[in-house]
Amino acid sequence: MFTPLRSFIDVAPDSHFPLENLPYGVFRPAQGNARVGVAIGALVLDLSVLEEQGTFRTPELSKSAVFAQDSLNSFLSLGRPAWRRAREIIQHLLAAETPELRDNAGLRDHAFHQQRDVTMHLPAHIGDYTDFYSSYHHAHNVGTMLRGPENALMPNWKWLPVGYHGRSSSLVVSGTDVRRPYGQTKPPDADAPIFGPSRSFDYELEMAFLIGPGNGLGEPVPIERADEHIFGMVLMNDWSARDVQAWEYQPLGPFLAKNFCTSISPWVVTLDALAPFRKPLPPQEPEPLPYLRAPNDSTFDIQLEAQLQTATMVAPHVITRTNFQNLYWSIAQQLAHHTVGGCNLQPGDLLASGTISGPSEESRGCMLELTWRGANPLTLPNGETRKWLEDGDALTIRGWAEGDGYRVGFGEVSGRVLPAITR
Ligand code: CA
Repeated sequence: MFTPLRSFIDVAPDSHFPLENLPYGVFRPAQGNARVGVAIGALVLDLSVLEEQGTFRTPELSKSAVFAQDSLNSFLSLGRPAWRRAREIIQHLLAAETPELRDNAGLRDHAFHQQRDVTMHLPAHIGDYTDFYSSYHHAHNVGTMLRGPENALMPNWKWLPVGYHGRSSSLVVSGTDVRRPYGQTKPPDADAPIFGPSRSFDYELEMAFLIGPGNGLGEPVPIERADEHIFGMVLMNDWSARDVQAWEYQPLGPFLAKNFCTSISPWVVTLDALAPFRKPLPPQEPEPLPYLRAPNDSTFDIQLEAQLQTATMVAPHVITRTNFQNLYWSIAQQLAHHTVGGCNLQPGDLLASGTISGPSEESRGCMLELTWRGANPLTLPNGETRKWLEDGDALTIRGWAEGDGYRVGFGEVSGRVLPAITR
């Protein structure tokens, strides 16, 4: 029987942040600059304090301060041997039986903060952001609405992980409100488009991974080495304006419908913490081309949910329940495909999954699918109905991998819809 690891820090049984997890984030304490920390229970451990003490003076981590920085980028660039060593050191220091930090009250006072007392920042300076479209059920549902069930999937969909290059400047951290955007839309019966606030504002439940060491321009990453370039994962909400999207998307794909705001969770869960939750990839038919095949390619068992809370509801209501395993393409396949033409990835780049919908109705990861483009409005527990998100609605995505007696969780990514500005 496996026993959960024990820390001298109290960790509630349903906490997302036990000793098995140790996700990295960038935070600013009440006084001082932003720096790197890990979450443990309800606390954050300030790694810059430990770094200054010499805790991380090892061959793998001996470079100059990587934690006294306002982003993870320096640490990301070091690669997995350094990440593993840091994880070992932190896990040992926080263990119930290790006295160094446990019995040093002065150091503890200095190194720990309550998470509720700190401000979380984006975990990295994200230079480039890409969004894939890797859920079969999402692509099939959306394709069915647009083209009918016979032509739901484009002929390329099962041959390559479809994606587009997104906009990194409008990536925000959880807790940031999102303003309803203006744009061009064309009502079906109108001769010409109109300009105004989007009337079909949506969320997309996604996950995304952060790139560690990059690859050189013109040097593709072979799929079997993809994991060396992947640090960890976050939750993501790809806010979308469906009416803007419907009018603008052909022939080059989404543009203004997606670039006004994209939210991610602040804590990055490492692939090492997720290792116990690897699962075989679902069958792929037809067999992908050789550059997209790896013998032990895998996915992760991560439970995901989206909660909606309108301005008048007393408690949030779960509207999506899904799992990361609903994705058709793996993160290794996404990375191998992204670089196969020679595109160079850099530390801190963000590659997202696309909406993670499954086969059941409750596993649909956006309003577009849940309400079938507004045809079947959702009825909420307080009697309100929704075709799309309305002003004042808060949407929160949560995710966790369920271990035996513990959870490796991602926390949440949350945002509230603000009314369009008055023009
Ligand atoms: Ca998306």
